[in-house]
Amino acid sequence: MTIEIKGHTERGTALQGKGRSAAGIYETQPYYQRFNQKNNMTRQPFWSPEAGELTRKRHHKLKTLIEKNAAGYGLIDWAFYNGSNANMVGTGFSINWPNRRGNFWQPLSRLAQPQGLLPAYQSYGKVQADPATATLLVRKAARQFGADQVGFCLLDRKWVYSHWLDEETKQDYPIKFSDEPGYDANWEPGQLADNTLVIPKEMEYVIVLIHEMDDEGMRTAPALTQMATTLTAYSRISFTTVMLAEFIRGLGYNAIPSANDTALNIPLAIDAGLGELGRNAKLITPKFGPRCRISKVITDLPIVPGEPALWGVTQFCDVCQKCARKCPCGAIPAGGRSFEPVGVYNQRGVLQWQLNHLKCYEYWAEVGTNCGVCIRVCPFNKPSHWSHDMTRWVIRRGIQQVDSLIVRLDDVMGYGRFQSPESFWNGKGV
Ligand code: SF4
Ligand code: SF4
Repeated sequence: MTIEIKGHTERGTALQGKGRSAAGIYETQPYYQRFNQKNNMTRQPFWSPEAGELTRKRHHKLKTLIEKNAAGYGLIDWAFYNGSNANMVGTGFSINWPNRRGNFWQPLSRLAQPQGLLPAYQSYGKVQADPATATLLVRKAARQFGADQVGFCLLDRKWVYSHWLDEETKQDYPIKFSDEPGYDANWEPGQLADNTLVIPKEMEYVIVLIHEMDDEGMRTAPALTQMATTLTAYSRISFTTVMLAEFIRGLGYNAIPSANDTALNIPLAIDAGLGELGRNAKLITPKFGPRCRISKVITDLPIVPGEPALWGVTQFCDVCQKCARKCPCGAIPAGGRSFEPVGVYNQRGVLQWQLNHLKCYEYWAEVGTNCGVCIRVCPFNKPSHWSHDMTRWVIRRGIQQVDSLIVRLDDVMGYGRFQSPESFWNGKGV
């Protein structure tokens, strides 16, 4: 059965006429190669003894601080952390491991409904919606399911990991597309017997979701209250992406829910017009600055893609350098952008500020959390207020002298300063 909503689908029409992309803006070089997820600094502990030792040190440090009842690491903060993580623990959703129980690539109805009792809803047919209508439907559903912002783009395969890292076997396995030789029988996304993940070629659309991280929580970076704030956003991702993916499957299409696995989020978010890349290697959004997490759903439901919206972040970061000044371990470069990586954890051949993720990860081991200072201090990290909105408007004009004045004022006004975790709990943090 086919349910006609409006118009008809013309797969691929959205691919036409889109000139600007993250790959173009950040001058991706011909020698660029898809990134292997195993080289992400947070994945390295699964195969590198040195990185594994840093993780062990971080956990040990966190335990020590909790046992000392240090400020920001007390029992209440620890309880907050455990609460923030609970949905992911309960559902088996992984932010880095694709195609697990919680973020399964196939309809969850196959897990939930004993065979023979109820038909899988996919058998009811496919909703035929024109891309504009589908975009509206998906945006509405995504907002209902908890996304703070929603954007749409085409899947630029440059940003899909070449390999994914299996946390169980500690091995990396390829991610292929069904139009690559030998994979054309895969019309559903899934995992082969040799652990290769295959994405059907028709899954060329991405719904990119932004999840705000609480301002007060982030002001306590690098304490446990800050890490719990980050994990709360991830738990909301686990909730939102899984529901949105299942909604799309209910319409009769394939959907892959994803947090940090499967593909690089930042360039996809840029392609969707949700922000720009900052010096601190974070997505800087007009609304939340870097104070957000990103997730995505990859699908074959045709939608209308957005396009990058540039609003002066690169030029402002050139002048600002505040994250480079405030990073406790000097992991953020104060100089210019480069195509050349600092280590295997960077992408080679993309013009960007190359963050030293090893130094950053070493610092995490010193504080027992995931730090977050470079998010806290960023001048874009402000909630909506007429004065902040006006500043953002001024930044868009791109006048260097004004940009440096804004940075000086930001310092003088004390924005981005550390707030004690006690003030987070007693409501005096604002
Ligand atoms: S998270 Fe902390 S250590 Fe890492 S780059 Fe940001 S400020 Fe530096
Ligand atoms: S702190 Fe300044 S330099 Fe760093 S990302 Fe934010 S705006 Fe850019």
